[in-house]
Amino acid sequence: MSQPEEFVDVAIVGGGMAGASLALMLQQFCPHLSVALLEQHPLPDAGASIRLPSFDARATALAAGSLQLFDRLGLWSRLKEYAAPIRRVQVSDRGHALGVSLRARREARASFDDMLGAVIENAALGPVLHGALAATAVQLLAPARVTELQMTPEGVRLQWHRGEEGAVQSLRAGLLVVADGVNSPLCRRLGIDTEQVTYNQRALVTTVGVQRDHGGVAYERFTADGPMALLPLPRRHGRHRMALVWTSPGERAGELEGLSDGEFVARLQRTFGWRAGRIECCGEVSSYPLSLSLAREQWRRDLVLVGNCAHFLHPVAGQGFNLTLRDCYGLAQALACGEMAQNSSGRLDLLQEYARERRLDQQLTIGFSDRVPSLFAAPGLLAGGLRQAGLLGLALAPPLRAGFAGQAAGFGL
Ligand SMILES: Cc1cc2nc3c(=O)[nH]c(=O)nc-3n(C[C@H](O)[C@H](O)[C@H](O)COP(=O)(O)OP(=O)(O)OC[C@H]3O[C@@H](n4cnc5c(N)ncnc54)[C@H](O)[C@@H]3O)c2cc1C
Repeated sequence: MSQPEEFVDVAIVGGGMAGASLALMLQQFCPHLSVALLEQHPLPDAGASIRLPSFDARATALAAGSLQLFDRLGLWSRLKEYAAPIRRVQVSDRGHALGVSLRARREARASFDDMLGAVIENAALGPVLHGALAATAVQLLAPARVTELQMTPEGVRLQWHRGEEGAVQSLRAGLLVVADGVNSPLCRRLGIDTEQVTYNQRALVTTVGVQRDHGGVAYERFTADGPMALLPLPRRHGRHRMALVWTSPGERAGELEGLSDGEFVARLQRTFGWRAGRIECCGEVSSYPLSLSLAREQWRRDLVLVGNCAHFLHPVAGQGFNLTLRDCYGLAQALACGEMAQNSSGRLDLLQEYARERRLDQQLTIGFSDRVPSLFAAPGLLAGGLRQAGLLGLALAPPLRAGFAGQAAGFGL
């Protein structure tokens, strides 16, 4: 006799930053729900390094609102030993003396524990999230590659297997959360289209060694080629370190990637200037193509999308994961209404409410991430004037600057 199919209330596909964070929030805010998380890559024991795309050599700027959320999940005490506080953000435009400075003390509305935010290396974030998950009741299925999805009147039926050779296994879920990243094959399989804006830019990412202490300052600089960010990192082996995100047109990025370390550092110093002092060395340079990619539907009956598969943003304003965390929190809050989450029509109402609640924040954040780089990167006299006005406006108009700080800090406008 065949075994009855296993049923869970919520199945999350994808154990990256989005899927892992949502699973932790469901545990905290909806302990009545059974949750399974399926990830195609193996998850090593807690403490070991994790080889998932989310937890690569990048660093993530976590806004103050995200720190508050991690604090509520009991994770901030573990994260803070790997995090560098952002006390001040210095925005500048190459070729113009003027710059804008946002300080945690001045923007009290947008700060947590006297920080505008904090920067943490993804390779440190992964083990903390997955170490915490391993201690919960969430069923971790890995390696588990989901290959088929079927929407049925009794919920969603998933088929998955362990590696190419593994036998096919199945699972039924009341609610399917797709968190499988940008260019999601599962969304394509479900017939969910995406709206794409290609920036013809790449982000070069590396860690640099700097001569002097960064003092908790995050720099955001707009050049004719595109925006760049230099973010504080904790010291390692006595060395002052910062995380670089340098956006450039595709062909220029290719040229920069081909430089020796010494040439790269010299070019970086010329382009970035001396605000952060002498840049002494760099680590391995990774490169990411940039686009804005938005799913045309983020939810359906028994189905919701979170993370990069729902919205993939330009990284310069450091908004993508911060927005995702707010989405995950909104979803967990919606599902926390116990009884309604147990039946399909109840969940449909909850998903509708969730989507309504999240619309304004998503529109503002996505628009902000999309417009700021194009405003500051566009060539020409008029755009140059606009750049000045943009910076001037931010520098001189406190409500505008507070709005900018609020948006950058993840509190919404
Ligand atoms: C250069 C750069 C810098 C950034 N900096 C910041 C920043 O400073 N601040 C910020 O807020 N955001 C930042 N972001 C955005 C942030 O990285 C993303 O929000 C985050 O990576 C979202 O991850 P995700 O979990 O949605 O997707 P992913 O990391 O792609 O995870 C998807 C997971 O799903 C798994 N998967 C895929 N298909 C299947 C399947 N069929 N079955 C099972 N598992 C599957 C994959 O193995 C993977 O582990 C940055 C992005 C870039 C590119």
